[in-house]
Formats: sequence, structure tokens, C-alpha cells
Amino acid sequence: MTTVYIGLGSNLNNPSYQIKKALRTLAIIPTICLHNHSSLYRSKAIGPKNQPDYINAIAILSVKLSPFQLLKKLQTIETEHGRTRTGKRWQARTLDLDILMYDNKQLQSPNLILPHPELYNRMFVLQPLYECVPDLILPNGQPLQDLIQYHSDEKIWKI
Ligand code: ADP
Ligand code: MG
Repeated sequence: MTTVYIGLGSNLNNPSYQIKKALRTLAIIPTICLHNHSSLYRSKAIGPKNQPDYINAIAILSVKLSPFQLLKKLQTIETEHGRTRTGKRWQARTLDLDILMYDNKQLQSPNLILPHPELYNRMFVLQPLYECVPDLILPNGQPLQDLIQYHSDEKIWKI
């Protein structure tokens, strides 16, 4: 079994509902065990402006799936939530499921990068992670707590 952290995000079609529904879906997949998840957090969109606010959360899983099998499963769930892919980054979306960490695995492939390249940069990932695992050491050896301090000017609201 492998410990995986995933990030959930949505800013379309009742985002809180999308996140809660995705958590329910993850909880019933036989090859996935959902151990814990954070509260939901609201933040302003990054990238193109005039987008609704985002709702984000993280979940802690153990999986009997390879990283690529897991990515495929998460993309299937995104599609079931009406996610359409334009190929452009940072577009509004009904559901975004990202693999933040897969144990401490490092991987660089055309369609999967581990840990997720934005893991260290986004308060909407760091803050919910901190809620669940305050003493977490990130794959680059940095304590999560230090990064939270560094990004403390980024506004995010627990809901
Ligand atoms: P983003 O999450 O960057 O806003 P997308 O959800 O559309 O954008 O993802 C774009 C691509 O990122 C996906 O098609 C996927 O193959 C790739 N990708 C690379 N690394 C990861 C990861 N760790 N988790 C999820 N997707 C990833
Ligand atoms: Mg994504």
C-alpha cells in the first residue's frame, strides 16, 4: 500500500458540492482507501480573472494503484463531474483532482509529475495539508510549517 495526498479543487457548478461528491466517490473505490480529508477552503482564482472563487481540499489515501493508474482513475472522476479540457491552464473547472504526493516518489513524465509541481507554491494546498498533518516533511525535505509561514500573505478562508 502507498500513501497518497491528493488535491481537490472546483470553481463551477456548486463547488462545495463537487468536492463533497468527489470525496464520496473516492471513498467507495475498492483499490483506494480514503483515510482522511481536510475542511473545505475558499480562495481567489489564480490565472485568468473574472472567475468564481475556488473551493479546495486535500485528501489522504492509500492505494493499490500505480501512479498512472491512479491518475487515470482521477481523470475519470473529473470527467464524470462534467470536466471538459480545453488544453489551457487555470481555466474554471467543475473538478480538478491532482496527485500532490505519491509516497515520496519523484517522477517526471509527459503526463505525470511527482510530486505535483505546484505543491510547494499554493496556499490552497499547503493550508489544508497543514490541517491534517501539521508535522509533515515535504519530499524536498522542507517542513510544511516553514512553507506555510513563507506563503502566509496569500489569503485563504476555511469554510
Ligand atoms: P492543472 O491541474 O494544472 O490546472 P489540469 O488538471 O488540466 O491542469 O492538468 C493538466 C495535466 O497535468 C493533466 O492532463 C495531467 O496529465 C498532468 N499532470 C502532471 N502531473 C500531474 C499530477 N501530479 N497530478 C495530476 N495531473 C498531473
Ligand atoms: Mg489537475
